[in-house]
Amino acid sequence: MYDVLIIGGGITGAGAARDAAMRGLSVCLVEAEDLAFGTSSRSSKLVHGGLRYLEQGELGLVFESVSERRVLMDIAPHLVNPLGFLFPVYKGKGRSVFELDVGMWLYDGLSLFRSPKLHRTLRPKHVLVEEPGLLQEGLAGAPLYYDCATDDARLTLENALDARARGANVLNHTRVTGFLREGGRIRGVTARDMLTGEDRTLEARVVINATGPWTDLTRSLGGAQKALLRPTRGVHIVVDAARLAPHHALICAHPVDGRVLFVIPWGDRTYIGTTDTDDHGRPEDVHASRADVDYLLAAANHYFPRGEGAALGRDDVISTWAGLRPLLSGEGSESSLSREHAIFVDNDGLITIAGGKLTTYRKMAAQVVDQAVMLLRLTGAGMDAREAATAKEPLPGGAGWPANDDHEAVAVAVVEASGGALDLATGRLFAGVYGARATRVAARVVTDPSGAAPIVAGRPERMVQVDVAVEEELAKRLSDVMVRRTQLYFRDHDQGLGAAEAVAGRMAHSLGWSAERQDAEVARYAAEVALSRRWREG
Ligand code: FAD
Repeated sequence: MYDVLIIGGGITGAGAARDAAMRGLSVCLVEAEDLAFGTSSRSSKLVHGGLRYLEQGELGLVFESVSERRVLMDIAPHLVNPLGFLFPVYKGKGRSVFELDVGMWLYDGLSLFRSPKLHRTLRPKHVLVEEPGLLQEGLAGAPLYYDCATDDARLTLENALDARARGANVLNHTRVTGFLREGGRIRGVTARDMLTGEDRTLEARVVINATGPWTDLTRSLGGAQKALLRPTRGVHIVVDAARLAPHHALICAHPVDGRVLFVIPWGDRTYIGTTDTDDHGRPEDVHASRADVDYLLAAANHYFPRGEGAALGRDDVISTWAGLRPLLSGEGSESSLSREHAIFVDNDGLITIAGGKLTTYRKMAAQVVDQAVMLLRLTGAGMDAREAATAKEPLPGGAGWPANDDHEAVAVAVVEASGGALDLATGRLFAGVYGARATRVAARVVTDPSGAAPIVAGRPERMVQVDVAVEEELAKRLSDVMVRRTQLYFRDHDQGLGAAEAVAGRMAHSLGWSAERQDAEVARYAAEVALSRRWREG
């Protein structure tokens, strides 16, 4: 019997699993699809304080977020990287430059002046030096401030892998189908292995529901009726940096409705997001609509105007992603811990955590595990309530990372470790993805040179990443590798479809797949890509 069983391998569940495992509890993390399959691979990929909350006067929340930003930069320095944001101000629209400057001082101050870099407020001519393509008409100036960018799915994976290294049982592709009960209390779950169809029971003293937009569905497995969430859809689009390559990230108000959105440089790509629309569909089916895509293109074209006929169009969109915000409907909170997330305990003992942000996941995890420890004590289990040192212990890729955060030195070491089989572009990619483990991954191509082959010709991702994904990162389906371990789904011009057979073939070696299984995986992945392109049909 486990002490704690966590349903949902998004950032919330993976973070809670790490926290609980570090406290010495026996832990099982159960994920229906793939780790970070849900919202945790579909966010804006920012570790940020949230200027929005500053505007709303929620200083406590901003303080928590910017403090967490610092912690995550320390424990995952390879993965949480500073990014400059320009916030252009136009005459007669929104806040003045002065007001924003004051806000930025507050933002820097709330981080106790430990922002990745302090902000500067630029005059129009300096803004245009920094960002030459930006809309000039009416430009009054722009603060340039710093937050962090990350790979949300990797951050989730790193938490799950660390939990596993500390003894947690991580069951990927295993869906919780019901609850076990004893004397009216939940005592575990029934679960189905989604790859073999095998059903099993998993007993646990305490069960945590961390299923993001599936929160209400999961609670309904136990008979709960009341909806806690009001999910909204957020969409991002990806374009080639050859078509739009801002030097900094841009935070701007949409020209039509004034909603705040981002334009984020992303290596050879740029992404733009996000929208905010009520969505009551199945979370696994969420996808961009044509209106979402047009709305985002309109913003990019407004702020980065070009000559007649050169505007970004639908054909420039390489990929899209859509996620559901697990927002709380605002009613019935039994123990609301903050406006951002809440923890609920049902009469049968099921603990539910919902809402929140990627940025604050570590705090949320600590709070929900505190709650679990409290219940464990009630059930008579002698528990040591030591806090976990999740803020101090690095995530796996952060252990051994250079103290001066020198990504380039790691990239060079990757090339060396591969005996020159990998180039610097791949070295940089591996440094960001694997952190201090990058040289170990690179060294694999010395013993197996086929691992040095590009997955897609001309791109930096290499076949050895497929092996690592399967052997060390719990990838079990083609889409796990294409979407969340390599990001080819988002970044490649044909979303990795051209490489799908080769990747499935490579996975087949390790996983013992038949030819039929390989074909099925390719077909399944193609369907996933098609869903993300459905907006093209109108
Ligand atoms: P999810 O990541 O959705 O995880 C839930 C998991 O539960 C899923 O993997 C699912 O497969 C699994 N599951 C469901 N049912 C079952 C079952 N029966 N059995 C087993 N497993 C099950 N936050 C930031 O800090 N920065 C940002 O830039 C940012 N941008 C965002 C942009 C958008 C568009 C959205 C939607 C959110 C954004 N957020 C951001 C918020 C952040 O992404 C979410 O708060 C966070 O990812 C939610 O994680 P989660 O683990 O709670 O949910």
